[in-house]
Amino acid sequence: MPRFDAGYVPRSAMAIYAHPDDIEFTVAGTVAKWARAGCEVTFVLLTSGNSGTHDRKFTRKSLARVREREERESARILGAARVVFLRHGDCELVPTLALRKELVRRIRRHRPEVVLCNDPQALFFGDRYINHPDHLAAGKAALEAVFPCAEMELLWPGAGPVHKVHAVYVSSTLSPDTWIDVTETIETKIAALSAHRSQLGERDIAPYILERAGDEAHRAPAGKAAGEKAPGRPKYAEAFRVMRLVREEK
Ligand SMILES: [Zn+2]
Repeated sequence: MPRFDAGYVPRSAMAIYAHPDDIEFTVAGTVAKWARAGCEVTFVLLTSGNSGTHDRKFTRKSLARVREREERESARILGAARVVFLRHGDCELVPTLALRKELVRRIRRHRPEVVLCNDPQALFFGDRYINHPDHLAAGKAALEAVFPCAEMELLWPGAGPVHKVHAVYVSSTLSPDTWIDVTETIETKIAALSAHRSQLGERDIAPYILERAGDEAHRAPAGKAAGEKAPGRPKYAEAFRVMRLVREEK
């Protein structure tokens, strides 16, 4: 069994998020780092972001088409093996039993060692941002699918042979305990995010991402994000709460 420290690279990972660009804003540096090291990465997008604009030239259908194209380009930049779109309505996502079952089916099919998802408990960030209801719903549905549903033999046998996920890397959390050094992939993260032109318009997102990843690196306890062999703080980091669902090596 693995150790889920800063140097750990899973064989396979599944990022379950609500909207095209959620992965890019939050965990893309980690995903790109793992993919470069040989991890097979699957993106599961619960919506195609079909409400995500104030631009009246779009319909929900045409916007979804554009945003799926942007997500595919971004996934290619990040080195993901595949992107799955479940096409629920943007701003309408609810963690229903039906959604949980859809996710169990995907987890049992692709069998990820690690799942990445949002923290469904993180409602307020500072005094300026109320978390999007879809992010909370996606995080809740993902966690419920991972544990216990994906691993229960008597539950939904038609959804495929059971699978046990080893760890969940919970992002956008108010209680992080693990920091991953993304200094080597921060430019890839910015490039992937820049593929989401319908969301960014003319905005240069690089300064914001560099500042945020720099802040995370600064918050990491010294030595933690860089791994035991390289004490000290990395330049850029992403923060997670890691839920370890199997026993780790000593
Ligand atoms: Zn989002």
